[in-house]
Amino acid sequence: MSKLNPKLVSELQCYGAKEFSACYNCGNCTAVCSLASENNEFPRKMIRLSTLGLENEIESSLEPWLCYYCGECSSTCPRQAEPGELMMSLRRYLTARYDWTGLSKRFYTSEIWELGAIFLLAAFILVMFIFFHGPMTTELTAESGVKLNTFAPWKTIEIGDWIMAALLGFFLLSNIFNMYLKVIVRNKNIKIPIKLYLTTLWDLAFNFATQWEFSKSENKTKIAGKQFNISPYWIMHWFLMSGYVLMLIMIMVFLGWFQTDNIYEWWHPQRLLGYYATFGLMAGLIYFFYNRIKKEQESGKHSHFSDWVFIVLLALTTITGILVHFFRIYGLPLPTYYMYVFHLMVLFPMLMIEVPFSKWSHLAYRPFAIYFAKVIKAAEKVNSKD
Ligand code: SF4
Ligand code: SF4
Repeated sequence: MSKLNPKLVSELQCYGAKEFSACYNCGNCTAVCSLASENNEFPRKMIRLSTLGLENEIESSLEPWLCYYCGECSSTCPRQAEPGELMMSLRRYLTARYDWTGLSKRFYTSEIWELGAIFLLAAFILVMFIFFHGPMTTELTAESGVKLNTFAPWKTIEIGDWIMAALLGFFLLSNIFNMYLKVIVRNKNIKIPIKLYLTTLWDLAFNFATQWEFSKSENKTKIAGKQFNISPYWIMHWFLMSGYVLMLIMIMVFLGWFQTDNIYEWWHPQRLLGYYATFGLMAGLIYFFYNRIKKEQESGKHSHFSDWVFIVLLALTTITGILVHFFRIYGLPLPTYYMYVFHLMVLFPMLMIEVPFSKWSHLAYRPFAIYFAKVIKAAEKVNSKD
């Protein structure tokens, strides 16, 4: 049943959608959006639902996740209602609605909550190190440089990593299950045979690995004067994501191999993989910082507080990781130990807040939304034949 929320317009403003009530329903945005069809007024339908306060309809919709923020709708809107930014804000709003803990809503709508949680988690790591760190050996030997594994044994850090991974997985998966209840189970009009979930699984895996929808963003890539049909946004997003995932796998699964006291040659796989991950992260970060500061592309024009928190945390994590690496290479024990602690003080809140409750969760919600949309479409086809 439709439920009206008269405060939805002001609620959505807290998630970043400041201008959409200026919409006078002309339909220009639908005319230019490649996702619009005869039966789907994309994105105008979402603007109408938002203006009317129909929160149940919005909650059970996958459309905000299908939008890849190409920005065409915003640049053609005669009222500067910023429909692209509304879709972005609806993604934040939906992330908060899927999250049963209520933390996501707090983080997206209160700067004090978000910063407070970051400082609290950072303080927790600091306290753990103050009380439980190993000896801070400053002596260097020929075989092994800085004794990072004496100060912070990888086996102990790995136990912490696994506890964190279990928590992240639990929150993220339970929120995805909540999303499934809202968009599929609540929709009683459609019967979905189990086998359709299996036959469309490939889409889920493909979109998880590539986030391919972003390749359709504005501004195609030009190399030597030739235009390619892939946007720089996707390329940089892919560098960032692949660097981040690679680093996550190395610290969560292969920490014993990655955190050694031995300094290998530059061509050793341990160092090469670490350098690739660092390059991917830095390239993506520079691009996204530039995009948000220059505001040339629609996707960079309106930055929510949570967007800045995310890229600042990721940049600090990357830079402190680079410094730990160089301090070790140059045989500086104390700077290595202090920087290692600071690195974990940034990394831990970034993962605990961003992955299940904030910006990073879109890496999971978007592929699932595309998957659910495909499952629903396939089921409609089957049902229409019956
Ligand atoms: S183009 Fe702008 S004014 Fe026209 S329907 Fe879309 S959002 Fe509303
Ligand atoms: S940003 Fe692009 S994909 Fe998203 S609604 Fe606007 S035109 Fe459509």
